[in-house]
Amino acid sequence: AAMRETELKRTKTVCTYCGVGCSFEMWTRDRELLKVQPQPEAPANGISTCIKGKFGWGHINSEHRLTKPLIRENGAFREAEWDEAYALIARRFGEIKAEHGPDALAFIASSKCSNEEGYLMQKFARAVMGTNNIDNCSRYCQAPATESLWRTVGYGADTGSIADLEASELLIIVGSNTAESHPVIATRMKRAAKLRGQKHLVADLRKNEMAQRADMFIKPEPGTDMIWLNAVARTIIEMGRADDQFIKDNAENYDDYVASLEGFTMEFAEQRCGLSRDQLDRVVDMVLEAKTICGVWAMGVTQHTMGADTATALCNLLLVTGNFGKFGTGGYPMRGHNNVQGASDMGCMPDRFPGYDFISDDTVRVRYEDAWGVELPTGKGLNNHEMVSTIHDGDLKSLYVVGEDMGIVDSDALHVQSAFEKLDFMVVQDMFFSRTCEYADVVLPASPSVEKEGTFTNTERRIQRLYEVFPPLGDSRPDWRIHTELARAMGADWAYGHPSEIFDEMASLADMFAGANYDALEGFKSQQWPVAADGTSQANLYSDGQFHFDSGRARFHPVHWNEPTDQPDEEFDLHLNNGRLLEHFHEGNLTDETAGIVFKIERSFVEVSPELAAERGVKAGSIVRLVSRRGAIKVSVEVTDRVQGRQMYMPMHGKKNIEAINVLTSFESDKDTDTPAYKELAVKMEVLSVE
Ligand code: SF4
Repeated sequence: AAMRETELKRTKTVCTYCGVGCSFEMWTRDRELLKVQPQPEAPANGISTCIKGKFGWGHINSEHRLTKPLIRENGAFREAEWDEAYALIARRFGEIKAEHGPDALAFIASSKCSNEEGYLMQKFARAVMGTNNIDNCSRYCQAPATESLWRTVGYGADTGSIADLEASELLIIVGSNTAESHPVIATRMKRAAKLRGQKHLVADLRKNEMAQRADMFIKPEPGTDMIWLNAVARTIIEMGRADDQFIKDNAENYDDYVASLEGFTMEFAEQRCGLSRDQLDRVVDMVLEAKTICGVWAMGVTQHTMGADTATALCNLLLVTGNFGKFGTGGYPMRGHNNVQGASDMGCMPDRFPGYDFISDDTVRVRYEDAWGVELPTGKGLNNHEMVSTIHDGDLKSLYVVGEDMGIVDSDALHVQSAFEKLDFMVVQDMFFSRTCEYADVVLPASPSVEKEGTFTNTERRIQRLYEVFPPLGDSRPDWRIHTELARAMGADWAYGHPSEIFDEMASLADMFAGANYDALEGFKSQQWPVAADGTSQANLYSDGQFHFDSGRARFHPVHWNEPTDQPDEEFDLHLNNGRLLEHFHEGNLTDETAGIVFKIERSFVEVSPELAAERGVKAGSIVRLVSRRGAIKVSVEVTDRVQGRQMYMPMHGKKNIEAINVLTSFESDKDTDTPAYKELAVKMEVLSVE
């Protein structure tokens, strides 16, 4: 027994699955994961985890892992050594840059990678290749939320901590399937409701678990949240119940905002949102009764053509009622991937350096030019969505995608796939041979979170360290190492030997992280940004009454209503919504490797209401073809009253064209941020077999 004890290794890591940022120990022996052991000192989760964090680690030793670089030759892939792969990439990137200029290349960073890896990815794009064509998957999800917070309060992130969510008297939860997408935060919300009488107002198309438990559940028509949010704000102002003192002391542009609300009457909200006057009055009462309110939202708000404006309407309502700055208040977009916050924080964006400094700011750019010893590009680069269009236009020739299965998770997947076919040269870096790899010229085998050191930043801006649990499998390598070696192959003098050196460089350049360092993040310790040079940070961003603008005051931002796109008509007569499953992570590349999870959720399905099932003669297990204005898929039916009438719901789980929701979704996008309008989708349903 003594011998077995010495073989056991305990390593702290951070979950790779969602923005809650649960941390825990992994108990291992050699390459075997014996158990995931939560620790009370874990700042985001204590002793809680969900099924994915506890059990979803089948990917680590999966036989499907890529362990060798792959090079396409005569239409097929062959294994290669790293040096050969690097040399090929360096040559082709160099040729394309020489022939078409640096902006003919583009880079997609991964929100599953560490901060250090994100930092290197943008440095590679900017300093080595000379382009600002870099983006990350927040473009698919919360970019509109970030925009709404930038506009109104100044920082593009959750304004407080999970502790604020727990302490609040009222949570307004809009378009967030919190119990499945952010399970451990949902547990803390449920506990606050049970133990402290916290109230939950849930607005969603689907009666998800949070809706079932809510004090009040409203189901506005798809894409109309802006209207009821504005109508509630307008009513509160008309009643003389706005927090005038807060507004006078802390905010500007109020008069313009009040004027912009003119058309947002309760009558308009009743008529267009399909809500009753009683429901709307009750919402007003709940808002007025609560001394502290947090607004919580996710993709049900953002993935619309009016995504940023709808999130802004919620931020405006929080300002009207004085709900920023105090403990238990603020705006909380729930970040999806484990490090989607960090990917943007690290400057994997077409217009920002690390810490959100603008590339157009000459002083900042010179600081980076001096540190990196190169001249940097000045023009705003392409975002993810624009990259796809620019490939179709013929002006973007090469794409380097890290850890994102763009070919199946980007909206209008067939349009994205046909763009990939037009590329001159494509590099994909991943752990598995994803759908996107099929279009690559070179595939680089990357290591998962447990095979590297680094940091992740969770939804509450909390930076946490992860330690190497296992050495990289086979010939796979951590992404930071791949970036470093590839940069060297292209002639750069990168010499990073450990992620802490990357982090220190980043912190020396980005003011937002001035006082952040690995010592302060040792073990289960964490820091929430911004971290001042003296190491202090603010858990609730505006607790000092200073908003992140030159004036120190928050800004009301008027928004205007437009109808959603891709609406149902006579032919495409059903609305199809989509979202996450508790058990699976997104398309499933990681979680499909855990047998227990696959056993529980074997394949994708569409939720159909009992009314619609009766009308169309389908039942549980029937196979249907769903057809949109762009494509068609085949799925099995689940009949449930979580959805109603002609609205259906499908998980985003699915890796093949025949089953993936994004074969159906459109290329329309948020007018301000280009986040695809995944949630604006009309389909028709053809019954293939009833059994
Ligand atoms: Fe991982 Fe999120 Fe589950 Fe926590 S709640 S264990 S971070 S998937």
